[in-house]
Amino acid sequence: MLLTFKLKHGRDFSSELAKARRVAEFALQSGSQSSKDVKGIGLPSAIANQVLRKYARNKTIKVVRHVQPTVPGQGVKHDRDERELYISCLKLRLDVSFLPPFEKVNQIELDQEFAHVTVTINEPPLMDVEHWVGIDLNSTGHIAVVANPSTGKVQKYGKEAPHIQKKYSKMRRHLYIEGHPRVAKKRIRQKEKHKTKDLNHKISREMVNNAAQQACGIKMERLSDIRKTARQSRSFRPSLHSWSFYQLQTMIEYKAKLLGVPVAYVDPAYTSQQCSRCGRSGTRNGKDFTCSCGHVDHADANASFNIALRPSLEESDGRSHQDRDWCKGRIDAPQEATS
Ligand SMILES: [Zn+2]
Repeated sequence: MLLTFKLKHGRDFSSELAKARRVAEFALQSGSQSSKDVKGIGLPSAIANQVLRKYARNKTIKVVRHVQPTVPGQGVKHDRDERELYISCLKLRLDVSFLPPFEKVNQIELDQEFAHVTVTINEPPLMDVEHWVGIDLNSTGHIAVVANPSTGKVQKYGKEAPHIQKKYSKMRRHLYIEGHPRVAKKRIRQKEKHKTKDLNHKISREMVNNAAQQACGIKMERLSDIRKTARQSRSFRPSLHSWSFYQLQTMIEYKAKLLGVPVAYVDPAYTSQQCSRCGRSGTRNGKDFTCSCGHVDHADANASFNIALRPSLEESDGRSHQDRDWCKGRIDAPQEATS
């Protein structure tokens, strides 16, 4: 698996960035791929070669915009004892002690602030799991609700998310009313993105660790149709940004891969309307779910049980989820007090 990590490099590379731009412009005009031709510009040849290759060959690039100097893996020394990378042509050291163990460095892309380090990681073999937890995203007042049908346990994550969103949309509205320039609005959006990303990292880490501890796989809804399907019925409350859910899913997926926890996706249709105990259609009223079979549950918990019990999209092979034996493995346990 290839993963890219963003590390602050703490250096001023504006001169290298400007040189890389000049090399790119030259490559675009001349079509040359020889680093000899751009020696005068003074960009280290390992980096110049990458830029030349990209811009001389590519027929679709018409204008040079953001050139990010890229150092190929061969130009990076990896000190495993010190857990440090060294780019000799730039005399740049990068601390990689908090990265998961990796096989090799593929490349490092540089911008003003960050080094984007792409590494190859050996994935552990997938765990052989008997049970699955279901993760319901965008639930009422939380980022995610996780249910484990084999134990009946329900856990809620990220109750601070709606507050974050409310806070920032309020700030944006104020700026709008006060006629402030776009820059301010942009800055708020960036702050919000940053905060949400931090939270998503924290939550995905906890969820994946918990699933691994319980020796469970993770099931989630395939979110591509999020607006068309299950979520429409919940549109009475402000929906969180869909980008943040894709981000969270991606984080869950790669963190799970690193631990060998299997991840599967299920059909999102009616996960919030179906009864997780009998499979029939129940009634959802705000936070409450009730079914004619007598099952009463928190609506989001019910939805996450459904997700956990659904066959994965690969398994179901396009068949309707209603053909399936729903209540298989569903245990009712006293639910924990929610945090
Ligand atoms: Zn029921």
